[in-house]
Amino acid sequence: MKVVDSAALLVRSVPYGESDLVATFFTETEGRVGAVLRGARRSTKRFGGTLEPIHELVVRLEDRGRELCVLKEARIARPRQGIVSSLAAMEGAGRALRWVRHLCPNRTPEPRVWHGLRDLLDALDASREGAGVGVLLVTFGLRLLAETGYALDFERCARCGKLCPPGRPAFVDAASGGLVCMNCGGARRTMGGELRAIAARLSNPRSTGTDASELAAVTDAHASELLLIIEEAMAAHTDFAG
Ligand SMILES: [Zn+2]
Repeated sequence: MKVVDSAALLVRSVPYGESDLVATFFTETEGRVGAVLRGARRSTKRFGGTLEPIHELVVRLEDRGRELCVLKEARIARPRQGIVSSLAAMEGAGRALRWVRHLCPNRTPEPRVWHGLRDLLDALDASREGAGVGVLLVTFGLRLLAETGYALDFERCARCGKLCPPGRPAFVDAASGGLVCMNCGGARRTMGGELRAIAARLSNPRSTGTDASELAAVTDAHASELLLIIEEAMAAHTDFAG
């Protein structure tokens, strides 16, 4: 039997049997892990407030080599009251946690996704009235796709590799991995040159996506259009359904 102590985020919990819960955690050391919480519905004393998403937890899991671990202990290590008090931030955080649940495979450590998710939640926690939620989500979503092997290319045709000149509009097909040039059949959706440049910049892990000049350049309309493309890619590759 292995004992896992890790920082973790709750990404889902569902009732199980008479009195238990089955929770899905995204952990720092093991990636996504499912765990049984024995008696969690009979008594709220044992795990209490730790079973809310958003706050960063420290969990102890018992791994007996079965599909599900058993949660032995959980406590809140970093509360994020700022998210809880803003509907927009709350919805943004919930969306990011859902993405992670669908894109990250079981029991596979994803340290860069873990740190990206933690940074996103901290930024949402600090945002006033959920300002800038769209661009924060887009940045995380693009990098999550890249980290899990589904990077979107906004500069070259995803089929033949031909460079699309900067500033020009292009066809984009999220399921194919980004731009699709005319010779390769094009796509139903197009995106303008400005939006392509924004998407390419936010996809770059060296840009933080949160500095003031970048935030200011991304309008809500840009963010909504990119979120649509991101979630189309997720739906094409996983059981994510939006
Ligand atoms: Zn092509």
